[in-house]
Amino acid sequence: MTKYVFVTGGVVSGLGKGITASSLALLLKSRGYKVFMQKFDPYINVDPGTMSPFQHGEVFVTADGSETDLDLGHYERFIDEELNYTSNITTGKIYKTVIEKERRGDYLGATVQIVPHITNEIKNKVYEAGITSGADIVITEIGGTIGDIESQSFIESLRQIRNEKGKDNVLFVHTTLVPFIYGSDELKTKPTQHSVIELRSLGIQPDMIVTRSPIVLDDHLKSKIALYCSIPKENIIDSVDVKNIYQIPINYYEQGADEIILKQFGMKAPKANLKEWKKLIETTDNLSKEIEIALVGKYVELHDAYLSVAESLRHAGYKYNVRININWVDSEKLEGNVDLKKVFKNTKGIIVPGGFGQRGVEGMIKAIKYARENDIPFLGICLGMQLAVIEFARNVCGITEANSREFDNLCSEPIIDLMAEQKNIINMGGTLRLGNYDCKIKKGTLAYEDYKSECIKERHRHRYEFNNKYKDILEENGMVFSGINEASDLVEMVELPNRKHFIACQFHPEFKSRPTKCHPLFDSFIKSSSK
Ligand code: GLN
Repeated sequence: MTKYVFVTGGVVSGLGKGITASSLALLLKSRGYKVFMQKFDPYINVDPGTMSPFQHGEVFVTADGSETDLDLGHYERFIDEELNYTSNITTGKIYKTVIEKERRGDYLGATVQIVPHITNEIKNKVYEAGITSGADIVITEIGGTIGDIESQSFIESLRQIRNEKGKDNVLFVHTTLVPFIYGSDELKTKPTQHSVIELRSLGIQPDMIVTRSPIVLDDHLKSKIALYCSIPKENIIDSVDVKNIYQIPINYYEQGADEIILKQFGMKAPKANLKEWKKLIETTDNLSKEIEIALVGKYVELHDAYLSVAESLRHAGYKYNVRININWVDSEKLEGNVDLKKVFKNTKGIIVPGGFGQRGVEGMIKAIKYARENDIPFLGICLGMQLAVIEFARNVCGITEANSREFDNLCSEPIIDLMAEQKNIINMGGTLRLGNYDCKIKKGTLAYEDYKSECIKERHRHRYEFNNKYKDILEENGMVFSGINEASDLVEMVELPNRKHFIACQFHPEFKSRPTKCHPLFDSFIKSSSK
């Protein structure tokens, strides 16, 4: 029978609930269990696909093409398991399903209500994740903070699940803040006490409390929390601030967090094997070199908008023992009269990641031109590939009007065009070309050198594509189309063999990089950049 762990958050948002959930999952996986993860987001959007990256950070795409919350990126990086459509559930998704059922007449005349119809639907999603994944343990993170109006039906569903399955099968973890008050110089447990009171008023008694604080809690404070919150002292896990998030699972392990969970579930397993993870910390804490990589995009004010890209750069850095300092370059600011030499003075590699809309695009093209002309290692991702092609067409092939229809619908040289299957689409949500597609790699190319394979699968999220009418002229001028999706004859990868390292892809490699196993494209990009 599948066991369920629910992770809620109290006091403030941004406590690192996602990292807590991922760390517990990693520990349980290291003990030999199959673990699956899931996140509930209480907003009304059906998925984050239509939300601005400025509001919500990056949209993480799973292999099956679901557009999900960025916390799923943490989950996949920590537990190295592919998640899917059952892993990110929003209020919008739940209501949409319930309303569709009501319209079909499925409720046979009943008055449709939050309890039981909405809560039943939420519970179905939890059980569905358990059944379809075949996991021993499903860990579900509940977005938002206890007390929010939005999350109440989710919390009520958790209460019901515990009631149905019992304490042996369901465990509640509550993460809270224990602030340090300057002046009196002490940690305060009152916010934690109040947050647990709030949680109890919704019918949930936590089994484990994870306290986020700048310093370790002493025994006296733990006793106080234990007393007021009615939990054993050893079930309070310190989550002290760390510089390196990959340290957190180790910190939890040392406090026996995994053992607490297994004990409650009556499960016995050999000790966690954290050898690989400990080696990772050893590496990340002792990087001997550093290099600057410029990330040119329009959402750079919010680093979370490029979370997986930044992580992937760092992962490759670990392999080559280099710390990656990201120079966050706002592409819009490159559009005026700026000295690019100055901007990229210390830059050893330039990356242009994905994006949507026209703003800042000309600045990205300038950065790509600079990389090509000065032979600086370049990696283009999705929009970055489309712009690399436009830059090459304009400045090397003399097609001065080259552009994408995304930015100029009437352009005379649409090097990048709307995909045929997109032409009649009206709804913007969930209709991009999403998730895994095959890519056939040409032998003798940089792409082949990176992947060492002719057939790969990567995750996608785009509406526009390279226009094959321009293939011949670009090839004549030296661009190599090194990756193709044969089923739709769609260009997946391009490169310039007469440059040291110039490669771009239509897909998003950043979703598949892991801290202990960096992605081949980031690997070779960082290798070239650190030479
Ligand atoms: N805006 C481009 C498209 O829709 C690129 C998308 C992306 O970079 N994710 O095709």
